[in-house]
Amino acid sequence: MKGLTAVVLVLGLLFGVSVSAEILLSVHFIDVGQGDAILIDYGELIDGGRGKACSLYLRTSGCIDGGLDVLVATHMDADHIGGLDEVLKQYQVNEVWTNGNSYTTAAYYDFRNAYIAEACHTFTARRDDMIALGDVSVRVLHPSTLVSDRNRNSIVLLLSFMGWDFLFTGDIQESVESNLVLCGLLSDIDFLKVAHHGSRYSTSAYFLLTTTPQISIISVGATNSYGHPTQEVLRRIGCAVPGSWILRTDIHGTIILSVDADAKAYYRTTTGVAPIVATCNNHSEPGNDRESGVPCDCSGPDLNCSDFSTHAEAQRCYDYCKSQGYGDVFRLDGDKDGSACESLP
Ligand SMILES: [Zn+2]
Repeated sequence: MKGLTAVVLVLGLLFGVSVSAEILLSVHFIDVGQGDAILIDYGELIDGGRGKACSLYLRTSGCIDGGLDVLVATHMDADHIGGLDEVLKQYQVNEVWTNGNSYTTAAYYDFRNAYIAEACHTFTARRDDMIALGDVSVRVLHPSTLVSDRNRNSIVLLLSFMGWDFLFTGDIQESVESNLVLCGLLSDIDFLKVAHHGSRYSTSAYFLLTTTPQISIISVGATNSYGHPTQEVLRRIGCAVPGSWILRTDIHGTIILSVDADAKAYYRTTTGVAPIVATCNNHSEPGNDRESGVPCDCSGPDLNCSDFSTHAEAQRCYDYCKSQGYGDVFRLDGDKDGSACESLP
């Protein structure tokens, strides 16, 4: 289903306007603050944010009738799996899909213990797997193999329904996006869950010019310390797909995209704020550039001392990542004396 006209005509009906035909599918981008939690109302949950926001939404929204068929953990960072133990306690879950990574955090062990206790069927997602949801199936586009970087191992899913394509990207980065395009796995889509909460290391112009999403959804916390979403990403979206719409959980609350029996798509948000129209000009939307003032992206691409020109620069990154709870994530302090990359000038 392509073409801005078609999308605007249909989605232009907007918030609060009655839907003409029976809704067959809804995808809920749940406002969980800084993190991801996405419910496909055929019984699949992709990630669960941190804390209880996701389980509370599932309980109060009335979207879940009985249990959950499928739970997907795109990767093992706490902003994606931290709330899944609560979900597992609350609902019977049939299948749990992970990327196969293990981790050493409390969030990981809580999640793992919860699905083991519930005796869920567990699967490791790999490229070209199909996750069945009744009449609907979701295709796994990534990963094909695991690498050392957690974010790059995020499970990427493509849901196609009555001609509408939804792409769910976890926290992948530019290199993965490029791989998906070069492997011929992506062409134009309609709805993009923007990777990694709008980090500048994701959502490249190359990827956007291939996928040309008509609506980009950014799942992000209002007061996050990472500077997400970055102005850079907002601008890239505006330059690649001018006039497309951006919806953000920090501004629009929970975002619900629905498709009805006439194959029309609709959106609703809990705040009712109008969508942001993406433009290529200097961006004045309330995204921010704080990320560019952050010394490094602790959850981003793997770094080593050769990526820094001075000891002070490496030390800022090291100190920052420790302060954010990542520890010495890039192993910049080999002798563990608190000083990073001492061989640099
Ligand atoms: Zn994340």
